[in-house]
Amino acid sequence: MIPGGRTALHPRYEVFDRDVKNHVELFRPENVPLETEEARLCQQYQKLTGSLTVKFHGEEKTLVQMGRYLEEPDRPLRQEAWELVAKRRLQEAEKFDAIFDRQIKLRHQIARNAGFDNYRDYAFRRLGRFDYTPEDCPRFHDAVETEVMPVERELQAERRAQLKLDKLRPWDLAVDPLNRPPLKPFARVEEMVSRTQKIFNRLDRELGGGFRQMQELRLLDLDNRKGKAPGGYQDTLNEARLPFIFMNAVGLQRDVETILHEAGHAFHALAAREDNLRAYRHAPIEFCEVASMSMELLGNEFIEEFYSAADANRARRVHLEGIIGIFPWIATVDAFQHWIYTRPNHTRAERAAAWLALMDRFGGDVDWSGYETARANLWHRQLHIFLHPFYYIEYGIAQLGALQVWANSKRDKARALNDYKTALALGGSRPLPELFQAAGCGFEFSAKTIRPLTKLLREELEKLRD
Ligand SMILES: [Zn+2]
Repeated sequence: MIPGGRTALHPRYEVFDRDVKNHVELFRPENVPLETEEARLCQQYQKLTGSLTVKFHGEEKTLVQMGRYLEEPDRPLRQEAWELVAKRRLQEAEKFDAIFDRQIKLRHQIARNAGFDNYRDYAFRRLGRFDYTPEDCPRFHDAVETEVMPVERELQAERRAQLKLDKLRPWDLAVDPLNRPPLKPFARVEEMVSRTQKIFNRLDRELGGGFRQMQELRLLDLDNRKGKAPGGYQDTLNEARLPFIFMNAVGLQRDVETILHEAGHAFHALAAREDNLRAYRHAPIEFCEVASMSMELLGNEFIEEFYSAADANRARRVHLEGIIGIFPWIATVDAFQHWIYTRPNHTRAERAAAWLALMDRFGGDVDWSGYETARANLWHRQLHIFLHPFYYIEYGIAQLGALQVWANSKRDKARALNDYKTALALGGSRPLPELFQAAGCGFEFSAKTIRPLTKLLREELEKLRD
């Protein structure tokens, strides 16, 4: 007989039991009205953000539509567009702060009602984070500061030199530094599908088969057409246990990244579909995004299916630079929330100062002079802070997993893909460290893990130099 408790005797239901127990333990009837109020404030934020428009060259534009002008080679035009958006947001600064003040108070009360000292500790439990703690997060932030920021600053210096500027301003960060026209990976969606199919065929026969099956079963709705809802995502038809992909492809490199990413999620759903426990057919977000982000990196190895050799390298470079650039932002958003919810009685001035200190740490070499207020309020545009508190570091954790899968594939492609598929097939049936381990990755996010991955990114970027 095996000595020990339930876990040893019922490993099959360990994760399931843990999640159900957690859910029951956190429930407090007195929190129901508070959560309703919290949801109302979230709606207010969404309504406010969604309603913002500007008048640009005689036309009314949403702030999302304004985003594309930051890719314009014409610098004064970029600046004009950026300033207009920043100014529009600042007009609502008071409202954003007021919504957030009330959210913090409510969330703190919800946490206290459930028996926690603060909302951070409550949120970690609520999000089912059993495999890492709030204390792991500052280690991640520190590692981003020491390992990633030097590379980010190098990339910014290079961009500055290529753009022939003394200083990078906030409107110089998205434009192609060599002023080239946008990459054109395909003209028609059918081309995107057939080329993506070729990438997966070259990567792995089984994954190629999965994507072909999705085509045959008409599980892809990819083209942008009038009246179609915006966005791109993968979801699962739970009854049929089949994934589908929805997106609005218009012929940009971004679309190629999206289809590779969402296909990674779809492969995950296909791999885990046989599990008869529905809860186990989905993994936690920290690992779901390993499935999808790995596919971006692995798929990009064959992106010549879309491009000439030079354009393929340009696309890879943009992708890898994006990975470097997202870590500091994740660290900023996460560290900010740790600060906020462990000091629920802070003033708005203290909050702004805390944010600015993080911008100094993680903002890199960008000159914001003349726009100090916009810089201090930049967090207003990060919807997770308002709508999904603490839900952001997952992307950092997952990206580290994906980079490890990619690093493994450079040493032994067959084995890396095999581990990847094995881990996907586990769905959500095991705790995170085991899912990562099955995929050939460590579940650890301090400098020990980040340093070699940053080194790899830097070496790869060097190889892709124009
Ligand atoms: Zn995703």
